[in-house]
Amino acid sequence: METATVSTRSWRRQGVVAAVHRSCRHCQAPGTFTPAEHIRTNPAWSACYVEQGDPREGQSVGDTCPACGRSRNPSLIERLGEIWHRQW
Ligand SMILES: [Zn+2]
Repeated sequence: METATVSTRSWRRQGVVAAVHRSCRHCQAPGTFTPAEHIRTNPAWSACYVEQGDPREGQSVGDTCPACGRSRNPSLIERLGEIWHRQW
């Protein structure tokens, strides 16, 4: 007769992934939705403004610049990958 012992161990993992969103090449509007006063009060960039706590806050504006309506080059987003993690 054979017996087998199997031990299992589970991990939790938490990580931070970073990406740099560069501003629009055409109008210099930010690459993310931002709750900043200087964005809200700039008529050229106000399309990038969101209220503090808005679900879009800090999110990428996407492939089209909401401020000038022109196409944003995908290279404007530089994905840095995971910059920090912990496991316990
Ligand atoms: Zn633009």
